[in-house]
Amino acid sequence: MPELPEVETIVRSFRPHLEGRRICAFHSRWVKNCRPSHVVVRRGAVGRTVTQLTRRAKFIVFHLHDGGYLLVHLRMSGRLAWADQPDFRPEHVRATWDLDDGHRLLFCDARKFGRITYTHDLAATTAELGPEPLARDFTPSVLRGRLRARRRQLKPLLLDQTVIAGLGNIYTDEALFRAGLHPLTRADRLNDEHVRRLHAAIREVLRLAIRSHGTSLDWIYPGGWMQRRLLVYGRTGEPCRRCGTPIVGLRIGQRGTHVCPKCQPRKAE
Ligand SMILES: [Zn+2]
Repeated sequence: MPELPEVETIVRSFRPHLEGRRICAFHSRWVKNCRPSHVVVRRGAVGRTVTQLTRRAKFIVFHLHDGGYLLVHLRMSGRLAWADQPDFRPEHVRATWDLDDGHRLLFCDARKFGRITYTHDLAATTAELGPEPLARDFTPSVLRGRLRARRRQLKPLLLDQTVIAGLGNIYTDEALFRAGLHPLTRADRLNDEHVRRLHAAIREVLRLAIRSHGTSLDWIYPGGWMQRRLLVYGRTGEPCRRCGTPIVGLRIGQRGTHVCPKCQPRKAE
């Protein structure tokens, strides 16, 4: 599933081709992916000009000139593409936008978990999302407040989009390794130094991943090279890049988790 760096990369690549374009037509071929309904999405989008394309958490946000918004969430297998993209054969097309410059934007989604939402009130629609980890006002003390209020283990807590927005399985594992913290550590037991390290590690790994255009581990998200820079994710049994100890694979809350047992010791609680 695309996480913050992949969605940010997608937004940056589509932005120059979408901003300033008017949507002439919208068609859904899988109406269940539209919220509140495909009729509302079509009525809200058609005839509107896209003034801005931005990201909030893992959502791609189309700002429309009349104050409306389209939010696209790619979930497991969603992808935006151009119908006339030379290196791409469109498959599993679930929705299309026709633009005033003659181009057609496609929403392709093999597994149909992706969502297209129309809203007039972006703040209300995204109210439950936690803070953006790369925002200037996301300070170590903000992170400390969000962690200490919850007596949960770090891994499931960091994956919770209402706690921090945008992290998924890959970057949670990478951030915890960089911070030297075991994913089962209780969040409310972290001291200030742990929080400071975790805050720095989250931002460092997300910035590195954006510079690397995200992680491409399957056909769904092509074009990134962060997979070559991952330190623990997907490296079970391979030597830790820092200490040589084999990386261990764990299951935490149904999610595959990757840990160096030496660099991320589990402290007695
Ligand atoms: Zn290690």
